[in-house]
Amino acid sequence: PKYQSVALVAGVTGIVGNSLAEILPLPDTPGGPWKVYGVARRARPEWNADHPIEYIQCDLSDPHQTHSELSQLTDVTHIFYVTWASKPTEAENCEANGNMFRNLLDAVIPNAPNLQHICLQTGRKHYIGPFEMWGKFEPPEPPFHEDLPRVNVPNFYYTLEDILFEEVKKKEGLTWSVHRPSVIFGFSPYSLMNIVGSLCVYAAICKHVGKKLRFSGSRGAWNGYWDASDADLIAEHEIWAVVDPYAKNEAFNCSNGDVYKWKHLWRVLAEQFDMEFEDFDDDDEGESRSSMEEMMKDKGPVWDEIVRENGLVPTKLEEIGNWWFVDVIFGVESSVDSMNKSKDHGFVGFRNSRTSFVTWIDKMKSYRLVP
Ligand code: NDP
Repeated sequence: PKYQSVALVAGVTGIVGNSLAEILPLPDTPGGPWKVYGVARRARPEWNADHPIEYIQCDLSDPHQTHSELSQLTDVTHIFYVTWASKPTEAENCEANGNMFRNLLDAVIPNAPNLQHICLQTGRKHYIGPFEMWGKFEPPEPPFHEDLPRVNVPNFYYTLEDILFEEVKKKEGLTWSVHRPSVIFGFSPYSLMNIVGSLCVYAAICKHVGKKLRFSGSRGAWNGYWDASDADLIAEHEIWAVVDPYAKNEAFNCSNGDVYKWKHLWRVLAEQFDMEFEDFDDDDEGESRSSMEEMMKDKGPVWDEIVRENGLVPTKLEEIGNWWFVDVIFGVESSVDSMNKSKDHGFVGFRNSRTSFVTWIDKMKSYRLVP
């Protein structure tokens, strides 16, 4: 056959989906040559269109549509599940995300006889609980490692894992892996949580209105040690796990392997936009904290003007800026995970987080999403 492996990427325009769409079709990608199907709801955007994949528009929350679109993909060998739905409460997250995942598996597993592996991406919230529980219970002590017991609060990641464990039992030899990134540095203006893209837009707006780049978060977020997960590294990690026999049926953390501080990346961000930044005001006990969501509420027209003046790809501020996400990230003390399990199992990939940060800022600029 022309292809050794056939991937189905659920969420192909997302922050990791877009990296998988770029990396999987490359001639030297492990497990290849790969044929790639990619699923998302919206029409295929321009910035995803160069990747040699088969794009399928399908809403995974709709069981009928999912069945009619995906049951035909009888040659799929590997599933990469890199999507999610965001709902107001975690109970609703469990329900909505469980349904999406189950709809996809119900359509594919019985109809794809060569299916070998399902790769599920969850994240750090496996250890620290859903956003709504932050500050309401005591998470385990970082660095987080994969053997920590589940926390006794509702969590859609646990729902997804349980569906995964139940489904793989249905087919002899079907294997799985779970990937738990930290905050992701990547490129996708369609992502629900893109910290780098959101900060680029924030910087562009501050510069446009003649303000210094001011950190909106807490002192703990400014001064603490953080880790991040480069979207391309996550794609490499997921591809490693679906190919390497030693990585089967395991959950793995997936982060860059270094630490950084936002106080240092803040300077980098200002440099990239050629603007001045404010140091965290140490006299201003706790007061430096302000809400991005609040600050950006009335900035839609300013963003439209920036887009027009710079001839950018048209985007809406509320789509390209994930302000609630910036607020939750900058509102917490930092935490880090351990990559020892991945290394012990043979994955030694890493990224320099500062370089990763700059790389994705460059990509936002070169695709004309920010000035
Ligand atoms: P993104 O939000 O970046 O992308 C989601 C993708 O799925 C998009 O392609 C989107 O396109 C598509 N999609 C959304 N809903 C549907 C649907 N109903 N049917 C079909 N396609 C859909 O995803 P992430 O990579 O951020 O999220 C994957 C997992 O990673 C989540 O569990 C998340 O919590 C976790 N994670 C994310 C982090 C981050 O920083 N982003 C950090 C740590 C973990 P469209 O909208 O057009 O359908």
